[in-house]
Amino acid sequence: MSAPAARAGTVARGEGRAGLVDQPRGFDLLSLPGLRRFARWRYARLALQLPLLLLALFVVVDGLTGRQVAPRNVATTAVWLHYRGLLVLGLAVVGNAFCAACPLMLTRGLSRRLERLLPRKLAWPRALRSKWLVIALLLAFFLAYEVFDLWASPWLTAWLALGYFGAALAVDVLFPAGTFCRWVCPLGNFNFALATASPAQITAVDPDVCRRCEHKPCLHGRYTAPERPAGGFSLPLAGAHAGFVPSAEVVNPNGDGFFPGCETGLFVPTITSNMDCTLCLNCVRACPYDNVALTVRAPGRELHRAPWARRGRLSVLTMGVLLAFFGLMNALAMVPPFFDAAQRLSELLGTRSEAVVLVVLYAGVTLLGLGLTLAAASAADALGGRWEGLVAAYERWGYVVVALGFGLWAAHYTFHFLTGALSMVPVFQHFFAYRGLDVDPNWRLAQVVPSAYLFAVQAAITGAASFLALYTTARIGLRDFGRRGAVAMWPMFLFVLAFTALQLLVLAQPMEMRGTILGPSF
Ligand code: SF4
Ligand code: SF4
Repeated sequence: MSAPAARAGTVARGEGRAGLVDQPRGFDLLSLPGLRRFARWRYARLALQLPLLLLALFVVVDGLTGRQVAPRNVATTAVWLHYRGLLVLGLAVVGNAFCAACPLMLTRGLSRRLERLLPRKLAWPRALRSKWLVIALLLAFFLAYEVFDLWASPWLTAWLALGYFGAALAVDVLFPAGTFCRWVCPLGNFNFALATASPAQITAVDPDVCRRCEHKPCLHGRYTAPERPAGGFSLPLAGAHAGFVPSAEVVNPNGDGFFPGCETGLFVPTITSNMDCTLCLNCVRACPYDNVALTVRAPGRELHRAPWARRGRLSVLTMGVLLAFFGLMNALAMVPPFFDAAQRLSELLGTRSEAVVLVVLYAGVTLLGLGLTLAAASAADALGGRWEGLVAAYERWGYVVVALGFGLWAAHYTFHFLTGALSMVPVFQHFFAYRGLDVDPNWRLAQVVPSAYLFAVQAAITGAASFLALYTTARIGLRDFGRRGAVAMWPMFLFVLAFTALQLLVLAQPMEMRGTILGPSF
């Protein structure tokens, strides 16, 4: 089955009942002056991608040829300090903003040329249509990050960026568009999972318009011209399901030609979460009736609506849950008590290999995290008097842990960002000075928030996420257990409080200043 046909099949299995889906109906961010016009512009995404492509070029050039001192190199500073801070900011303000501007997808032009050399695209194996591969890649990434000290090596960081571009290109050439984003990219999937706590999502403006919409171009793509071309149209991108919509029928016309639909298979009137949404706004451009909104909603609204039931269920939820525990491990690995514990474990195992110790620790955290989540979820279901099995309990309550994961990553990344946000200025000055230009880097620029406030900022983020997790717990409890929910929710409440206490304990430790040369300076 072709990719568009497969996507159409998804719709037929229950995503096509436009208007029956519970979507938020808040303020449409695209109604802000000039935004809808920009989003509908054919080259809007390109305009967002080009600055990040330029930054990626600096990363590769400085990483491979620059001075190999991490806090003075664009590669390490941009990737491990600034990108992560801005990612959290984007997720907290609008949603998956990084994927919207992801420069990896600029390999599309090259991939289209290369794919003509192949007889046809391959189908992504059915066995890999879940997030299990992504979980394995995330785990491999977190391990590699520690084992190879990626944050300390501009050279390795540059090769990582190049490898990422190569992988995106290879998958894009061989498999249908969207495969890399949905089934492979650890970075994008990290964003998808944490965007559950974001305050906006794509929705239909008027579900009735969608119900009457014949071709569903937001999903399949649209081809537009003044007249239907004689003998149909043939475009390498269009696919069999792109709908022909004449120019005269397009509300708020945005040009002729082909406008691709959603490459990750989301159908606008049925979207209930940010999972798999790259915020590319293809749907906004493809919809002939201007019927797509970027709607403001309560942050985390989707968490108590079991949003991932149709997007991969167990594997999607497990990815979200594990991110919380991988985050804990990632933060722990930067504080002194961890070094002592790792030393003791190394003696216990009789090995001096850091990789072996880390594999054992990550395996332990994975099993412990899943075990504790299952235990709390099972206890909650049992107390609620509705025991439907371990998996059902996990799928009901796992979203609470996803909310905690958002808080952990947000607090941790914000800490690093605030300790070095302004360092990008001298790092770029140094890039040019190192290459012979008369520039004097101002290395005093680094921190933006006084050291005394850093823990308070982290604690505030942690508190907000914990509140979200508690709220999610209460909503799930009342949703599924009625008045008995007041009893059912207690195991998850205790889980949230214990996780929050542990998180604060870890964040309160003196943390290794990865990627910052000066550390707190005031
Ligand atoms: S193309 Fe527009 S009107 Fe048609 S289904 Fe999609 S969002 Fe609705
Ligand atoms: S086309 Fe799909 S991935 Fe892109 S913004 Fe719309 S729903 Fe999200």
